[in-house]
Amino acid sequence: MQQARSTAANRVSLIPVLHDNYVFVLHGDGPGAAVVVDPAVAEPVIAWLEERGLELEAILHTHHHHDHIGGAPQLLQRWPQAAVIASAADRERIPHQTQGVRGGEPLQLLARTAQVLAVPGHTAHHIAFYLPPTADDGGHLFCGDTLFAGGCGRLFEGTPEQMHQSLQQLAALPADTLVWCAHEYTAGNLRWAAAEQPGDAAIAARLQEVLTLRERQQPTIPSSIALERATNLFVRAADGATLRQLRGHKDLWKG
Ligand code: ZN
Ligand code: FE
Repeated sequence: MQQARSTAANRVSLIPVLHDNYVFVLHGDGPGAAVVVDPAVAEPVIAWLEERGLELEAILHTHHHHDHIGGAPQLLQRWPQAAVIASAADRERIPHQTQGVRGGEPLQLLARTAQVLAVPGHTAHHIAFYLPPTADDGGHLFCGDTLFAGGCGRLFEGTPEQMHQSLQQLAALPADTLVWCAHEYTAGNLRWAAAEQPGDAAIAARLQEVLTLRERQQPTIPSSIALERATNLFVRAADGATLRQLRGHKDLWKG
């Protein structure tokens, strides 16, 4: 009996790796094709996919840092046919790339059409992948180290103005979009935000929820665009100058 069912990918799963990284997997119901986002390492990802009968079809990279690309070579040994999709402008810093993409481009992923978003700031050529909702799944955002739950990435290569614009672009996505950011930094981010804005009820309430999740060793990811608009000081920042000031406070903060 052949399995003729071919459904669009309607699930995102998260695999915690290293100290605080997450690798994300886009897949459907049951065995079939899968897409992996920002594989820091390979072994736990290979084991996770094999356990579920999933075949790797593509690897997405949001940026060139090692904790987002380190697992690619070993994944390609196991699935040599997999596409490697990353910023065309980062061809030199992201090896094994088979498909270079730019902000504004559509991208076919497992019978869904994603949008590539250019989000410079953390690095010069950082990109994000937005999956609009379908009939049987909501919207998803894979934003690497640009937007964090309650925070934003450090400005290694971009200006505060660029990061401000990148965050505003992400914050303009539909409110119920799930935000899959690549690190479990949420508790620290919100502790800092609560110290920065004492008396902010939305931040205080979220901090309590996040601390409860962490006590139970549960991930705080995914977040949502609505939650980030309400509680993320970097998203709430009115302009680049305000973001610069917040980034300075955060970088010096010892919580
Ligand atoms: Zn990074
Ligand atoms: Fe990172």
